[in-house]
Amino acid sequence: MSAPSLANTGNAVKPEVELPAEAYRQAVDQADLAISITDARANILFANEAFTRVTGYPRQEIIGCNESMLSNHTTPERVYKQLWTDLSAQRPWSGKLLNRRKNGELYLAELSISPVVDATGKTTHFLGMHRDVTELHRLERVVRNQKELIETVVDAAPIAFALLDPSGRVMLDNQEYKKLVTDLRVPEPAHMLLDTLTPGWREALAAAPAACAFVGQEARIDRPAGRARWLSVTASVIDLHSDNADSYYTAAGQAGLLLVIADISSLREEQERARGAALQAVLAEEERSSAVREGLSAAIFRLEEPMNVMASAVSVLQRRDPAAAAVLQQALSASREHLEVLRQVIPHGPQETVVSVNINEILRDVLEVSTPRLLAAGIVVDWQPAPTLPAILGRPLQLRMLFKALVDNAIEAMNIKGWKRRELTLTSALDHGCIVIAVLDSGPGIPEDWRHKAFEPFFTAKGGSGRHIGTGLSRVQQVVADHGGIIDLDESPSGGCAAIVEFRLDGDPI
Ligand code: FAD
Repeated sequence: MSAPSLANTGNAVKPEVELPAEAYRQAVDQADLAISITDARANILFANEAFTRVTGYPRQEIIGCNESMLSNHTTPERVYKQLWTDLSAQRPWSGKLLNRRKNGELYLAELSISPVVDATGKTTHFLGMHRDVTELHRLERVVRNQKELIETVVDAAPIAFALLDPSGRVMLDNQEYKKLVTDLRVPEPAHMLLDTLTPGWREALAAAPAACAFVGQEARIDRPAGRARWLSVTASVIDLHSDNADSYYTAAGQAGLLLVIADISSLREEQERARGAALQAVLAEEERSSAVREGLSAAIFRLEEPMNVMASAVSVLQRRDPAAAAVLQQALSASREHLEVLRQVIPHGPQETVVSVNINEILRDVLEVSTPRLLAAGIVVDWQPAPTLPAILGRPLQLRMLFKALVDNAIEAMNIKGWKRRELTLTSALDHGCIVIAVLDSGPGIPEDWRHKAFEPFFTAKGGSGRHIGTGLSRVQQVVADHGGIIDLDESPSGGCAAIVEFRLDGDPI
């Protein structure tokens, strides 16, 4: 027995116990891996029990044969070429070869070969270790085929899918989703839709994923050019099984969010067309009755002036000529009665209930209704909507009237004989919890000192100054205020008028 040698293992020097040669032999012989040792030309010198089990050749039959007797002669030539290139350079090689057992059965061998080099640097032997991976390969194929099948079906579906991991990253999608990315020109439509439909989803996804689930919610996507798109979105939480090593024994899973996005644009477009025709009629009717309302209110406002003069005259005459004062007083009272009758017949504004409205939809309606006038006046429209907007509570007809009045004012401002620059820009944006809408024209604009007066009832500068101030701004301001918003007039970048309307997302309409 050889004396124990010393081995340096870190701080303590421990004696190295030499393993008996027999133990080596038995370990190799009984290993559950097909092991063979060959000479430098691949002639088998030793094969263990597992080698016999896998190949079917008894040990006495295989010893002295070349390893090539295992070959089925269908492994591509280049594989063997690489094998021998590596081995010749004394590099280990590993790969898969198609072998044939003694009974003629084929199997896939996963093989590792290491050269054994002697003290002079010459390759004397090769150590080969292989196992039958036919079943493993079959299972891998089944999984791959299933994956390809699922991907084909998912890709062929006319519905977009996106699977988000707990951090919100899209880890799986399909062709239809990729089309959405190109069409909407946003990096991640899933994020845009979730931002619109369940704000706060990013925080909720990891902690309480169920809070992000919903069924069939609709999102409207507006683009500067082209038609609006309507998407119906369903979000469901699904279990993702982790492939991290630390989850091997725990089967720990994570929650992912599966978005299923269906394009319902054609259905909604049809509904929109029908709604558009009805809307045109409603707006025309509302415009007519509001013109009557305004006309009568203006008449009453103007009649009150001479009546106030009459009332002063009565009080002056009371002492000097009581009889004349009485006659005048009578006439005054009769006029007041008639005025009151007039006040009673002023038609009421529409009684609308508050519903959830999408401001982009309102603006789009207004542009559509105003198209004939815009075309007739040769005005170029630049429509720059926020791609998506959260809904606010409001009265749709009043909001349409409000923006139609602003667009009408812009058209009127630019439709002056000889006025060259005729551009209308309509934008919507989400800014710090507010929806901001800008109606910008390239007309002559409003002088700064008139901007506040413009909101006074019956104020108009039309015809007088050559500068523009719209009508109906007091009504516009009333509607904005009723919706808890604010309106401001400013100068547009082209020197025209900029009407800026802001609605708070948490605003409460009166
Ligand atoms: P070739 O590859 O041209 O072989 C012709 C002969 O030359 C064979 O004896 C081959 O072994 C030998 N040879 C070729 N190139 C060299 C070289 N550069 N140096 C030395 N000898 C060379 N093949 C399998 O198909 N299945 C196996 O399970 C398998 N196990 C192997 C295990 C070990 C340890 C080694 C070293 C090789 C093994 N091989 C195996 C490779 C095998 O030796 C053959 O290269 C291969 O089967 C192709 O044989 P061939 O008759 O088509 O022609």
